[in-house]
Amino acid sequence: MKPESTIKIFRDEHHFAAAHFLIDMGKCERLHGHNYFLTVELGGQPDPNGAIVDFNVINPMIAELCRTFDHKMLIAKEDDRHAITIGADEIEITFKSKRFVFPKEDCVLVPVQATTVERLSGYFCETLAGHVAPSHPNVEWIEVGVREGSAQMATYRISIK
Ligand SMILES: [Zn+2]
Repeated sequence: MKPESTIKIFRDEHHFAAAHFLIDMGKCERLHGHNYFLTVELGGQPDPNGAIVDFNVINPMIAELCRTFDHKMLIAKEDDRHAITIGADEIEITFKSKRFVFPKEDCVLVPVQATTVERLSGYFCETLAGHVAPSHPNVEWIEVGVREGSAQMATYRISIK
């Protein structure tokens, strides 16, 4: 087995604050928010320069993902337990006896079935892999961790070789 290097990126600025709700998850079904922190790990064979990633390329990609989600209302676009009505300026969500209306510009429709850390880490990992793979041929896998608060996180890893 060839030696492999692993890069771990855990910068304080790879953070966002956002609101969400989780249907059928007890008190989490009520509208609430978190501080989320992203960690990214990448593995592979170092190139002739001795590197597998260019931090100057990958850090802005992670920062941009965080910026997109920061101070937004996260809505699970693929959750068939709620109805989403998208108007010109508003998004209406209804489920059970509840109805939320948010300014459209304050929302992110995330292509996931629920905005849990498990699903968010999967979404971030797939998105980052799509950006990283073409410019980083030595990266063989990527793992994204999404930490919610101080002591719980989910990770998602995909092979990009
Ligand atoms: Zn939550």
